[in-house]
Amino acid sequence: MTSLANLTRKNLDQFAIFHNVDVDPVWDLLRQCEVRTLGKGEALLEKEQPNRTMFLILGGTLKVYLDDENKREAAELGQGQTVGELSVIDGSAASAHVVSAEETSLLCVDENTFWRLSRASHGFCTNLLTLLSLRMRSSNVSLEESANLQWEFEQQALTDGLTGVYNRRWLDQMLPRLLQRSEQDDLPISVLMIDVDHFKKFNDNYGHSAGDSVLRIVAETLVNKVRPGDLVVRYGGEEFCVLLPETDLKGGIGAGERARTAIHEAAISDASGNTLPGITMSVGLAQWRAGENVDELLKRADEALYQAKSLGRDRLETSA
Ligand code: GH3
Ligand code: MG
Ligand code: MG
Repeated sequence: MTSLANLTRKNLDQFAIFHNVDVDPVWDLLRQCEVRTLGKGEALLEKEQPNRTMFLILGGTLKVYLDDENKREAAELGQGQTVGELSVIDGSAASAHVVSAEETSLLCVDENTFWRLSRASHGFCTNLLTLLSLRMRSSNVSLEESANLQWEFEQQALTDGLTGVYNRRWLDQMLPRLLQRSEQDDLPISVLMIDVDHFKKFNDNYGHSAGDSVLRIVAETLVNKVRPGDLVVRYGGEEFCVLLPETDLKGGIGAGERARTAIHEAAISDASGNTLPGITMSVGLAQWRAGENVDELLKRADEALYQAKSLGRDRLETSA
């Protein structure tokens, strides 16, 4: 294996993605990564081709082109910048053609190591979010130039407009990958299926817009009550789903009860700040079983939720 060249424990901080990151939890993972050197003009990524690696530029320059004839240059990336992380996260093909502009050395962080880094280091995740949001902002600017692309962007939106949490489309794309990862890493994963109790009555009594405020409060409360690695999704209407990676049934009960109690106790108000009566929610919990697919897992969580409803609501039931 080649050495990490100019990446050392001491200078790790100079690389944007490792800025302010605690070195100890990540260093062993980085040491195991391959280092690759590209000659001038050598292609790293081909547009539309599958990619499962995040590349960190240790030295040199990469040019990003929107076409494969290298005519429409979109960006130039230098030391400390990364490329390929979006493909690792969502499994999509490379969105651009990436070519080395001079001799360039790259740290190749494969999919498995990428997720291990994100689990081991909160700092790495935070930096990654910042880099991704910068990238999203710059692509938003280019999108404004094209109504057609804007339409595609809306189609591909992965968060819910009302509450800001992930939407069903995101769940459909990500849950199979999360299950696959749990299987590979031999780690548990659990799902909470959540439904607001008597929400129709709430809407009828206080109006749809007050109902919307409730949904925002529920989403915010869920996000605040689960761990940073847990994922909150608006499943539809007044139903939410929380994915709990690395969590077994016992941990799931803890998370679910914490969330349920927080909603029970949450102060509810409408958009103008008028106080409204409190609400409750029912929760169904299922731990993923080896070999089970997404639909089977969600169905079991949904059955547990149904049971919580029939046993009186404002409670959590688990799928045996
Ligand atoms: P249960 O305790 O059995 O879950 O009863 P419920 O009234 O909550 O369930 P039901 O399925 O009968 O009603 C769901 C209600 O949620 C009806 C629908 O109008 C409302 N709803 C769904 N999406 C939204 C939304 O985006 N905003 C608002 N304000 N209400 C919504
Ligand atoms: Mg419902
Ligand atoms: Mg309901």
